Amino acid sequence: MTTIFSGIKPTGHLTLGNYLGAVRQWVAATGAGAPEETLYCVVDLHALTVEHDPARVRRLSRQAATLLLAAGLDPEMCTLFLQSHVSEHTRLHYLLECTASDGELRRMIQYKEKAAKAEAAGQGVRLSLLTYPVLMAADILAYRADEVPVGEDQRQHVELARDLAVRFNQRYGPTFTVPRATLPAVAARVMDLQDPTSKMGKSHDVTTGIVYLLDEPDVVTRKVMRAVTDNLGGVAYDRATRPGAANLLDVLAACTGGDPVELAAGYDGYGALKRDVAEAVVETLRPVRERHAELAADPAAVEKVLRAGAERARSLARPVVDRAYEAIGL
Ligand code: ADP
Repeated sequence: MTTIFSGIKPTGHLTLGNYLGAVRQWVAATGAGAPEETLYCVVDLHALTVEHDPARVRRLSRQAATLLLAAGLDPEMCTLFLQSHVSEHTRLHYLLECTASDGELRRMIQYKEKAAKAEAAGQGVRLSLLTYPVLMAADILAYRADEVPVGEDQRQHVELARDLAVRFNQRYGPTFTVPRATLPAVAARVMDLQDPTSKMGKSHDVTTGIVYLLDEPDVVTRKVMRAVTDNLGGVAYDRATRPGAANLLDVLAACTGGDPVELAAGYDGYGALKRDVAEAVVETLRPVRERHAELAADPAAVEKVLRAGAERARSLARPVVDRAYEAIGL
């Protein structure tokens, strides 16, 4: 049996990047008849690695869970839960801290970027920002996950989880499954519409470059029509010289099921391309917005899903983490 695990940080409102890069794959893996064990987690502990507001984290955690249900996750077909409800994650984190090295964590691209940002803001760098990929490895390894559907930006962290699983198994005996990242064919890295050289990130400052899952159709359209492109003439798919256009073509391909290079051939100007992208994104997000309106009206039902999910997740993780404690000599 294949086990799938993935997570999302409640550090802001979910974006089109989260949806196309990750969440859509999560929903696809839970379809009727899918044999997999699928676990999806709102990784609230990861939200504490940078300056945070307690009430906001609590609210965003529930909001993220509600949006995941609205995006199509069926709690009957998968396990949806909050990371902090399952203490096995932090129990295993420590053992993996004793397996990872300081040097390999300092080499993580996201650490370097986020540490520089925190320092520039005069906030100091939390130790947990450095060790967060180890907690993420614990999230994955605690369920002996085989596959981790993520966007491109998380590939390096899943590699670390692989390395730690292999190292632990070699040193202490077979304990963990070695996981692998699974990335979508297109839109594995959706870029900011205003700065197509940086990714669309939910914890970035709110700008017109970020499309949120709950944006009204006219807001989506306005953001897409204002996307930064280039003045090289015509339309072509070239990530290096035309990152803005390539991003729009990726988004269009992800929403309509086409191929970005072939789609480019159908346009000779950005006006028409942007209109089609806006329409495709609005249509892709429409069912999510509609379901969200219903689910948000019943927060107790979402809370119930999360409690049941945590119970099931705990029952799966506990024997694995117990085994790891035993193997390491405790
Ligand atoms: P964020 O960086 O927006 O805070 P998370 O770290 O919570 O997102 O990631 C949740 C999932 O969404 C991960 O699998 C991540 O790879 C994916 N993801 C995040 N941003 C993007 C993006 N711009 N394009 C594609 N996938 C993304």
